[in-house]
Amino acid sequence: MTAKIIDGKQVAAEMRAELKSETAKLKDKGIVPGLAVVLVGDDPASKSYVTAKEKACEEIGIYSDDNRLPVDTSEEQLLKLVDKLNKDPKINGILVQLPLPKHINESKVLLAIDTDKDVDGFHPMNVGKMVVGERAFLPCTPHGVIQMLLRSNVKLDGAEVVVVGRSNIVGKPVANMLIQKAKTGNATVTVCHTRTKNLAEHVKRADIIIAAAGRPNTITADMVKTGAVVIDVGVNRIEDSTKKSGFRLVGDVDFEAVKEKASLITPVPGGVGPMTITMLLYNTVESAKKAAGIEK
Ligand code: NAP
Repeated sequence: MTAKIIDGKQVAAEMRAELKSETAKLKDKGIVPGLAVVLVGDDPASKSYVTAKEKACEEIGIYSDDNRLPVDTSEEQLLKLVDKLNKDPKINGILVQLPLPKHINESKVLLAIDTDKDVDGFHPMNVGKMVVGERAFLPCTPHGVIQMLLRSNVKLDGAEVVVVGRSNIVGKPVANMLIQKAKTGNATVTVCHTRTKNLAEHVKRADIIIAAAGRPNTITADMVKTGAVVIDVGVNRIEDSTKKSGFRLVGDVDFEAVKEKASLITPVPGGVGPMTITMLLYNTVESAKKAAGIEK
């Protein structure tokens, strides 16, 4: 069996087209969703993420408010900016790019974001709402994974899912979403981590494998049941002298071997990655609708 590729760029493009038509309808009502992006310092990777987010906003008709601050910005100055953005009616979402410089307390800043503008879904209030099944901003990467599965017609109801990784930004939230009593859940979920005794034994049972370990080759073909659906969240740099940069990106899954056993698989790059920004745009549009009293 050779797996069909779930093309993240295509799923993201489909969702962005839907969002673009939604922002056009909102514009007719005089509503323009606004996303404030805050970047402290000049980390090259963070800069390129922020630029990609701003470009994506422009493409789909979201107003983007760019706040680039020097690396020596104090915690107090940053908290003042967050407060200003919290009160700004043009802003429906606030994204503070992580990591922040060491002299700034990251969790203090994230807690200061108005929970109605927390489009990253990292505020404990939104995390708590997600866990108890209330409407909340869902964190972008895990929500992107669920959308990819749903839009590829993968049956979640009753499926055995194994999530490898238990971080607060990927493993825990994706597992939580999948156990919800909802169309986007109803799966039976096992969460594995570095203290799991026999990873292969768990993974072999899975109808759906979600790899978010941040280690190349964590999932090898011998661990995968024939016909399983494999979602690779990992992004790892490995040396490659044939590349100008000296490295290439790989996921957590041994893609070439696993694609011969799986029924569906996401590549790296071009899989989960493009979905993350798309879900941020989605949350910003949802926030603008909520602020305008337009509920689903
Ligand atoms: P993280 O905070 O480092 O968490 C990794 C998790 O994987 C931990 O829970 C760890 O277990 C577990 N783990 C590591 N090696 C393992 C192994 N050999 N067997 C079983 N479990 C193992 O990473 P993260 O932030 O969740 O990110 C995971 C990966 O996804 C990274 O490669 C990251 O770059 C990528 N990512 C991609 C996107 C995207 O948009 N595509 C977004 C976010 C993250 P312990 O808890 O026991 O240490």
